[in-house]
Amino acid sequence: MDVECIIDFIRDIFKTQEFIPLHTPTFNGKEKKYLLETIDSTYVSSVGAFVNKFEADLANYCGAKYAIACVNGTSALHIALLVSGVVQNDEVLTQAITFIATGNAISYIGARPVFIDVDKDTMGMSPESLKSFLEAYAEQRADGFTYNKISGKRIKACVPMHTFGLPLRIDEILNICNAWNIVLIEDAAESIGSFFKGKHTGTYGKVGTFSFNGNKTITCGGGGALITDDEYVAKELKHLTTQAKVPHPWRFRHDAVGYNYRMPNLNAALVCAQLEELDGFIENKRELALSYRNFFKNADVQFVSEIKHAKSNYWLNAICFHDRSAQEDFLKVSNDRGVMTRPIWDLMNTMPMFSDCLTDGLENSIWLSDRIVNIPSSVRI
Ligand SMILES: *Cc1c(COP(=O)(O)O)cnc(C)c1O
Repeated sequence: MDVECIIDFIRDIFKTQEFIPLHTPTFNGKEKKYLLETIDSTYVSSVGAFVNKFEADLANYCGAKYAIACVNGTSALHIALLVSGVVQNDEVLTQAITFIATGNAISYIGARPVFIDVDKDTMGMSPESLKSFLEAYAEQRADGFTYNKISGKRIKACVPMHTFGLPLRIDEILNICNAWNIVLIEDAAESIGSFFKGKHTGTYGKVGTFSFNGNKTITCGGGGALITDDEYVAKELKHLTTQAKVPHPWRFRHDAVGYNYRMPNLNAALVCAQLEELDGFIENKRELALSYRNFFKNADVQFVSEIKHAKSNYWLNAICFHDRSAQEDFLKVSNDRGVMTRPIWDLMNTMPMFSDCLTDGLENSIWLSDRIVNIPSSVRI
């Protein structure tokens, strides 16, 4: 398919000859009202009504029992791993196709990521690859934990990621993790409003994490959240994100090394308003995805669609070229012409700090990294 023809189509659906960004936030609801209320109340920081409201609203939206707000998606992952019992020298199974934060959060604890391949259709962790990896490399020992036979390290947790909002085969991943006594944590940073088999992404794992950074489907400038159904876990998540302070009317007692990760009320005000608009955004984004899908129907460029049983938020639409040179050509021409496009991330194991991490060969990950490009995906008003 002609590159010019794709660019013309994108200009056509966004109805502009100006620069078209990849993804911009939309503030059409009560954002200003809630922000002004926050300023008038003077509660702009880590205590305030909007933080509590957001936690209740988010839990309700996702169908989770508890939600804990925090400063960003990276800190959410960090705390999720800590509360799941990941310690220094453990191994954590994750994807080579993900944003760098997933690998970084694992490293903050001194644990090591192991990169498992993804499925081509979901671009998220492949149940088959996970199973084969464990069967080849892992053994369950008398202490009940799973160990890597080669490295001798404990495999404590598994962190799959729902790429660009497309739900992965999370039910199968959960079954495998359960069989091996590995804690499942879902990096749902990109998949707020995405469901698999009727359940919100992030609710399959022991903990699910979200990001509300400026480029995500809904934003509060910077922010994140954790969801869980486990009351004890919820208490721990809240405790560690709030300096591990022991509740007392005036004394300063802290019973662990805690973190200053609480979401400020100002940010919570913004994201409360955004959450009210989420369903409208998703409807709008799914319409855009459908237009793209129809456009690429009979082309040699493939539009990446949600799989059966999945409902994607289509945060970032993705197309697949037939090889790396076609991917490169399109990136060059589209960006030169003021239509912002981006390749899928470089694989995590190609970064210097992760270059000696174990992988399972990553056949599909390498294939995708040579072919996938994200195209403009903002809500159209
Ligand atoms: C955005 C993102 C994060 C990190 O979120 P921040 O809020 O930017 O810290 C983590 N994982 C994935 C997959 C992301 O896309």
